[in-house]
Amino acid sequence: MSTFAITLPSGVTWEPKFVADINKEKCIGCGRCFKVCGRDVLQLMGMDDEGELIAVDVDGDDDDEYEKKVMTVGNAANCIGCESCAKICPKKCYTHAPAHA
Ligand code: SF4
Ligand code: SF4
Repeated sequence: MSTFAITLPSGVTWEPKFVADINKEKCIGCGRCFKVCGRDVLQLMGMDDEGELIAVDVDGDDDDEYEKKVMTVGNAANCIGCESCAKICPKKCYTHAPAHA
């Protein structure tokens, strides 16, 4: 499995850590991670009481079909491994890995 470590001009080595998982139990659907990700990786979904994911209607008239909203990884291939999402998450939901999941 290849990784993408680069050495910055300062001599510091930086290695991107791509989003691998978001903990659906811990997630409160606050959307903070979605706002900081500029790469269209994340997708807010509804989750019913059996853990099934349901598309969220932007009009909000399907609220009774799911128990809560959770963030999911919609387009993992777009992730550049910046970890901004993990840094802003108040519930520590994120798992990142040096290679794409
Ligand atoms: S690591 Fe960066 S690019 Fe990847 S999902 Fe998080 S904020 Fe988006
Ligand atoms: S910031 Fe954390 S708690 Fe909020 S939606 Fe994203 S993953 Fe869920």
